[in-house]
Amino acid sequence: MVEYTVFANWKMNKRIEEAVEFIEELTSFLLPIDKNLAVIMCIPYPYIDALVRKAEGGNVLIGAENVFYEECGEYTGEVSASMLASIGCSHVLIGHSERRKYFHENDSDVNKKALSVLRNRMTPIICIGETMEEREEGRVCTVLERQIRTCLAGIPKNRKLFIAYEPRWAIGTGKTPEMDEIENAHCYIREKIIEFYGETVSKNIALLYGGSVKPDNTFDICLLKDVDGVGVGGCSLDIDCFTKVIKEMIRASSRKYHPANEIAIN
Ligand code: PEP
Repeated sequence: MVEYTVFANWKMNKRIEEAVEFIEELTSFLLPIDKNLAVIMCIPYPYIDALVRKAEGGNVLIGAENVFYEECGEYTGEVSASMLASIGCSHVLIGHSERRKYFHENDSDVNKKALSVLRNRMTPIICIGETMEEREEGRVCTVLERQIRTCLAGIPKNRKLFIAYEPRWAIGTGKTPEMDEIENAHCYIREKIIEFYGETVSKNIALLYGGSVKPDNTFDICLLKDVDGVGVGGCSLDIDCFTKVIKEMIRASSRKYHPANEIAIN
């Protein structure tokens, strides 16, 4: 079986009671499911502490939706990686398209955040992807190459991390690229990681697709080459929708050819 990862991004949604109820339901849903699956919930800062405790002992990991790259100091309103680590946060979403669009984060900020998260023994989920304008101008590969070069600069060789390919025009729009476009983008990202950083780094990086993932497209996306899982925004707010995505991932994991095993299952 292939190991898949799904991360949820709740964005600025849910009240604490709703968040707690969701994690309780998700934990019971995942209880009988084997461990070939990582489920990471990236949630608003104020809920992380409580939900890390709630999720303890289960199969749900709790992550943040953002972080600031400085360790401490005069940065009113910001939250550092060491603060997140101190409350048991395990993953941090970095460079999400809404951070880039509304808060003008650039690739160099993303790189500093990723390094800070790694220094604090957490796992970054680094979002990259083109805008619609860049896509229409035929610049998808140029943009991805620049993002991989800058966002990953200086990352340690032996640390696991995720890259989420999230075309910015696909986030929350109900539109997705064609399946072959997703596959080509993932293969291109993989190729560039190997070219810039080498095989050892590449082996520690899993590639996730995000952007209007729903139960009805999860299976096909997960079967694509170089897709190691998915990122889910809107659908992750609803427990039924999110658990359906997970079921589709599990269905795909028993079907996918895994080059590491050199066997085709089913
Ligand atoms: C996201 O916000 O990371 C995302 C993938 O959103 P959506 O699934 O709503 O497109």
